[in-house]
Amino acid sequence: MLDTPAAIQGASSEDGGEVRVLRPKRAAPADIIRPTRAEVNLGHLRHNLHAVARSLGSNQCRIWGVLKADAYGHGAPAVARTLERANMHGFCVALLEEAMELRDAGIKAPILVMGGYFGPGLEGFEELVEQRITPVLYEPGHVERLATVLKGASRPQPFGVHLKIDTGMGRLGVRPEELATFMELVQRFPTIRIEGLMTHFARADEADTEFTGQQIQAFHSAAAVFRQHTSTTPLLHAANSAALLSTPEAQFDAVRPGIALFGGSGKSPALKPVMRVRTEIVAIRQLQTGDGVGYGQSWRASRPSLIATVPIGYADGLSRHMSNRGHLLVRGKRVPVVGAVSMDMTTIDVTDAPGSSIRDEVIVLGSQEGPLGKDEITTGELAEIAQTIPWEIMTTISRRVPRFYREP
Ligand SMILES: *Cc1c(COP(=O)(O)O)cnc(C)c1O
Repeated sequence: MLDTPAAIQGASSEDGGEVRVLRPKRAAPADIIRPTRAEVNLGHLRHNLHAVARSLGSNQCRIWGVLKADAYGHGAPAVARTLERANMHGFCVALLEEAMELRDAGIKAPILVMGGYFGPGLEGFEELVEQRITPVLYEPGHVERLATVLKGASRPQPFGVHLKIDTGMGRLGVRPEELATFMELVQRFPTIRIEGLMTHFARADEADTEFTGQQIQAFHSAAAVFRQHTSTTPLLHAANSAALLSTPEAQFDAVRPGIALFGGSGKSPALKPVMRVRTEIVAIRQLQTGDGVGYGQSWRASRPSLIATVPIGYADGLSRHMSNRGHLLVRGKRVPVVGAVSMDMTTIDVTDAPGSSIRDEVIVLGSQEGPLGKDEITTGELAEIAQTIPWEIMTTISRRVPRFYREP
């Protein structure tokens, strides 16, 4: 079903440091031939974990890293191994498939499946019980099916689950007014033990915290209903990155950072970007005034211009919104994207970046220092141009771009 974890090989980087290469599952042999790659800095990942830990009010508060969507595009197995070694308490993913990938990669820490898709006949619960993966339940059908699966399993201990409470997101979860009935159902099955209660914030990244405050109150009320029904103390967790960093009352017993672990939008000085996307110039041509570039000739030279081609396009996750609007870095300097970003290639105007030549490194995301200066392109900048959010920028760097892991 899922591939076994790929071999890790050594390779040397330009600055002499050791770079560890996790071969991609499907893109080989592109990692050897095309110079386009995503470098994942595992030292920065650990730095961000420590920054999150420092922002917690209580050192009893646990951190459950959110590694859905292949750890936000960074490669879930390698990220999880790094965080597990750094003593992360547990992981959250959206899908059961994602949890199984982590177990296949040897991850022993608790894994919470938050999304709640367990198959049309809820077949997924069998795999889940076998692999000791913790489900988040919110439907009576989930509870009944899990109880049936547990009847057939030889488990002396009750099986731990978390419940999701919908305090205002309006997507998934038990509505607060239905919690008492739901609890009574769960309590009919002594094989199921509710270990955690979670909710999710709809507006935690806004400056106005009023709605988040209402959700926190609703979550407290749900916890009170819970306590009326049982003497066990559940782990309460609600905060995503924005909430844990901005609202101490949202921290409860555990927090669920995702984007903060990967550096956020690039605006927080405490966090370091984990991913850097780089490529190289593969061709340069001199254009005359009036010459056009790319599909539709959407850019024309207004002066004699040096145009460089880089082998990265929208199929790699470089948004077509970058056409004639975005910038990349060459020799430490920001240069404009000219013409349309195409599927596999992008053209940049290097007329004002003297000395640019074939094989020069070009940065699409991240920082670069070179003879012409030092600059950085953040997920926040790319998101603004592509009219989206940093989460989408990270998760759409495609499979075709091999991930190289840097262990400083
Ligand atoms: C994605 C997700 C998180 C993490 O969100 P960030 O904003 O990336 O920190 C936390 N909780 C749930 C339920 C999520 O789906």
